[in-house]
Amino acid sequence: MSSVRLPSVDRLLRAPACEPLQRRYGREALLGTLRDLLDELREPARQGQLAALELSEAVLAGRAGERLANQHRSRVRRVLNLTGTVLHTNLGRALLPEEAIEAISQAARYPMNLEFDLASGKRGDRDDLIEGLIRELTGAEAVTVVNNNAAAVLLALNSLGARKEGIISRGELIEIGGAFRIPDIMARAGVKLHEVGTTNRTHAKDYQAAINPRSGLLMRVHTSNYSVQGFTASVATAELASIARAHGLPLLEDLGSGSLVDLSRWGLPKEPTVQEALRDGADIVTFSGDKLLGGPQAGLIVGSRELIQKIKKNPLKRALRVDKLTLAALEAVLNLYRDPDRLSERLTSLRLLSRPQHDIRVQAERIAPTLATALGDSWQVVVADALGMIGSGAQPVARLPSAALCIRPLQSRRLRGRSLRQLEEALRCLPIPILGRIADDALWLDLRQLDDEPALLEQLPHLQQELAS
Ligand SMILES: *Cc1c(COP(=O)(O)O)cnc(C)c1O
Repeated sequence: MSSVRLPSVDRLLRAPACEPLQRRYGREALLGTLRDLLDELREPARQGQLAALELSEAVLAGRAGERLANQHRSRVRRVLNLTGTVLHTNLGRALLPEEAIEAISQAARYPMNLEFDLASGKRGDRDDLIEGLIRELTGAEAVTVVNNNAAAVLLALNSLGARKEGIISRGELIEIGGAFRIPDIMARAGVKLHEVGTTNRTHAKDYQAAINPRSGLLMRVHTSNYSVQGFTASVATAELASIARAHGLPLLEDLGSGSLVDLSRWGLPKEPTVQEALRDGADIVTFSGDKLLGGPQAGLIVGSRELIQKIKKNPLKRALRVDKLTLAALEAVLNLYRDPDRLSERLTSLRLLSRPQHDIRVQAERIAPTLATALGDSWQVVVADALGMIGSGAQPVARLPSAALCIRPLQSRRLRGRSLRQLEEALRCLPIPILGRIADDALWLDLRQLDDEPALLEQLPHLQQELAS
């Protein structure tokens, strides 16, 4: 092949084939992409490695279009969470109910009374927007909201115990995940860790013996993400509260998930509720907004008015506060708790967590034949019982009886592992990625979270192509 001439970038930019691209992405992005493309082709063209056809305006415009589409595709992607873990931290935890989604869009679209008291016309406080609801639902006197529960713990510790000792059981020095470890957070908060008891057993007398003039607070952490079984002992909130009160020290309780309702009502394992912790005498209780509460990412600090005031005066509060979208969503979610009888219909996360296994199985049986057809002859699809999890560290030992589409390759055992990994990747590369899990030589799609069945079905025709590539 002899060398062919590249078109000039100006000519290409004016070519009819590029017109729709310019309209869609703008002149600047198109120009940059065309330049890159021509730069890459210059050397091969000079060496005669390209046919004239490859340099036609239509072909170049097509390639530029592909690149631009790729660059402009959102990196924030919706996925189908069929992992079996409902409150999946890596997949965004709780799905919000419609009421909260609507509240977020209103707050985003219009000005709002974020820190403006409409009754007096004076400056307001953003925490006041949900304080009435929190009082009504939990019995707490006051509330302040921060970015997440890790921030809530940090802020509460720093506000109430800086330069003093924080007394905590050795059985509660937990790691939540990532870099969040109670001893480290205490250190960062300026609280000196005073650990008492042992990993498996801590008694009231251990706390009593530890109290000294440098003590600043007692802390109790709900060991949400692991369980110690066997020869164990811990001090209940009520008893710890009376020890704290006798010495004039505040008791801080980090509940982690912190549900506002007894989940056993819906057949779920019971988590300690915020109301119980307060009723038992905890002065300050911290919990997440996007775990069992089913709301947006947030950390709620509730408790006595005096201590909440102290926490709100800490300059760190300003650094950790939440935005208007979070508050709007949180208010909408808390509102749903006023009607516990309908909570499991209206609160998305609770509806998914409490979905009966039978429903999930019926859905799986409905989808299985379509999936089998989409996958072709080399795979077997069966509907199987599965065990899911709540996630986010809540009740790590508890399992949610569920149903799954269980996909097995029909090859010799030797090749199965590779095929499963290829299938897992193909599912992950679909227009709406489908995320399942590999276990026991099969890929499992747990359907507990499949609200949007059409979205799953629309992905299936793309599956062969992804498997082939
Ligand atoms: C999850 C959890 C946290 C951290 O909460 P985030 O909302 O993830 O910041 C802290 N403490 C406990 C006990 C938890 O379970």
